[in-house]
Amino acid sequence: MYGWDELEQACLSCRKCGLCEGRTKVVFGCGDRNADVLFIGEGPGRDEDASGIPFVGRAGKLLDDLLLAAGFERDKVYIANIVKCRPPQNRDPFPEEREACLAWLRNQVSLIRPKIIVCLGRIAAGVILHEDYRISQEHGQWIDRAGVRMTAVYHPAALLRNPSLKGAALTDFLKIKEEADALASKQA
Ligand code: SF4
Repeated sequence: MYGWDELEQACLSCRKCGLCEGRTKVVFGCGDRNADVLFIGEGPGRDEDASGIPFVGRAGKLLDDLLLAAGFERDKVYIANIVKCRPPQNRDPFPEEREACLAWLRNQVSLIRPKIIVCLGRIAAGVILHEDYRISQEHGQWIDRAGVRMTAVYHPAALLRNPSLKGAALTDFLKIKEEADALASKQA
């Protein structure tokens, strides 16, 4: 396992899968490296590929709004993705691309040691929680694994396509904040 500096260097020069061919920047992840809550999306889009920062486009703005509405500060959580390089035309990452990149994410999880992992959308939930995850039916439900509470919420891009889901997403974010506060107060 790498420490943060080595890990970041290794990721920034990574060519383990074909996504390296089309990327502008590797999107390593950002936020508090000691965060209690880790959010995991699917992969970078156009704005993220250009900036090297996760969730900065329209979907990122909506994620910021949901975090704020629930009482989270963006720089007090950590945000990463299943794959760190942008898939062409924002297609879903292929299984071999996810597999190649997961080692980096696992290393990040080992360093952060979050209490809560929140998957942003179906793809991340399918990789992290279970393969046949049905986001419309299972979002907001908790799974406990190796001492970590895990859940999934609608991907902000899905909320942009279908704004009627925003209410359910906010409810999930509020529940996650409540859980994070409860876990933090137990520790105090
Ligand atoms: S997506 Fe991940 S595994 Fe593939 S090249 Fe980028 S950093 Fe490496």
